[in-house]
Amino acid sequence: MGIVVQKYGGTSVADPERIKAVAEHVAFTRSHGNDVVVVVSAMGKTTDNLISLANQVSSTHPGRELDMLLTTGERISMALVCMALADIGIDAVSFTGSQVGIITDTVHTKAKILEVKGDRLREALAAGKVAVVAGFQGVSTDREITTLGRGGSDTTAVALAAAVNADVCEIYTDVTGVFSSDPRIVPQARKLQRLDFEEMLEMAGAGSKVLALRSVEFARNHNVPLHVRSSFTWEHGTWVLDMSTINAQQSSKENAMEDPIISGVVHETGEAKVTVFGVADKPGISAALFEPLADANVNVDMIVQNTSKDGITDISFTVPKADLAAALKIVNTVAGELGAAGVTHDEAVAKISLVGAGMKTSPGVAAKMFRVLADAGVNIEMISTSTIRVSVVVGAANTEKAMRTLHTAFGLDSGQAYSAPLPERK
Ligand code: ADP
Ligand code: ASP
Ligand code: MG
Repeated sequence: MGIVVQKYGGTSVADPERIKAVAEHVAFTRSHGNDVVVVVSAMGKTTDNLISLANQVSSTHPGRELDMLLTTGERISMALVCMALADIGIDAVSFTGSQVGIITDTVHTKAKILEVKGDRLREALAAGKVAVVAGFQGVSTDREITTLGRGGSDTTAVALAAAVNADVCEIYTDVTGVFSSDPRIVPQARKLQRLDFEEMLEMAGAGSKVLALRSVEFARNHNVPLHVRSSFTWEHGTWVLDMSTINAQQSSKENAMEDPIISGVVHETGEAKVTVFGVADKPGISAALFEPLADANVNVDMIVQNTSKDGITDISFTVPKADLAAALKIVNTVAGELGAAGVTHDEAVAKISLVGAGMKTSPGVAAKMFRVLADAGVNIEMISTSTIRVSVVVGAANTEKAMRTLHTAFGLDSGQAYSAPLPERK
């Protein structure tokens, strides 16, 4: 008996049949004596379709209006899930993010949650109801409707789980758990039984879509156990937990086994590379370039500055493709002011990362990665590292080759192709 938060992603509520299956599973969870909070994403590709609609009517998307538009997707799902629950005799009530008191900052389209009030959620549970909440949205301190960035329903679910002190936050999706690599690209990927918040943070930060980065940050900060699993097979999935819980759970036999050095090969194709050529190599140049980007809420990821020749250098960095237009506008202006020779950009790039806690104690991972890529004929354009991650930027056309070769070279192949049904993307 406890509180379970269940988040259902877009493919899990893509059509009426899926929505009915979700309702059945909520009923099943309740029949085991749990209170259930459901968080839903928009049906199938609804969010993409709404963005495409916006593009068709206008080239400028005022953030406030875009958020008004995008939040409608999740509202459709929440109402339909409640109706499907009513149909099988379960008392359920839907809430928007604003109604359950998800208070965010004022940055439209990528707002951060500041506070979760959750009063109405607790009242609904106390009244014996299932609460169904629209994911991906909140209300800002300026009382405007905001969205939490793509994939943000994961964050809603974890934030609500923390607010109601849930026993678990279950993330239902279209794969059976977190894998050593995206099973859509590396069919030999293996399902991970459990991994700790730090590794999952690095994987999400490196671009693994299976969990939104902010949701993992929230889970780590509030110690919310996550269970990533499939709404198609309903089998047990992957647990994301804090290290001490993992150590306590692991059998002595497992402890005796060497942990793998690498737990995942991750790709990110949502970033573009921008290069500023022929800029003076002197104090203040980087600040002049990156301060206005930060002020415009552009997330700069990797940065590389070449060694200077005759006091002149090049600076390359990556930004989300969604922010590229805004970034280029700023960078072109600053480059002009700094007397740079020019600015170029490349959208056909991919970032490939190796993530693994074992890297801390095993030198040579980066060197081996570079050798493997070189032997596969993959050119490396940029490199960055953290204590448990090595990332490289390569040409987008090399994504699959680089991931599969690295997965095999680091001994991660499961020996069998991913077998659970991968639903068609709608
Ligand atoms: P949802 O709509 O349920 O939120 P997402 O598309 O956001 O689903 O996330 C699930 C997808 O994440 C999977 O279909 C898979 O292609 C992708 N993915 C990327 N990396 C991984 C990984 N390491 N393990 C599992 N899935 C991954
Ligand atoms: N519907 C939103 C998206 O597609 C949020 C989510 O699904 O998590 O990004
Ligand atoms: Mg998602």
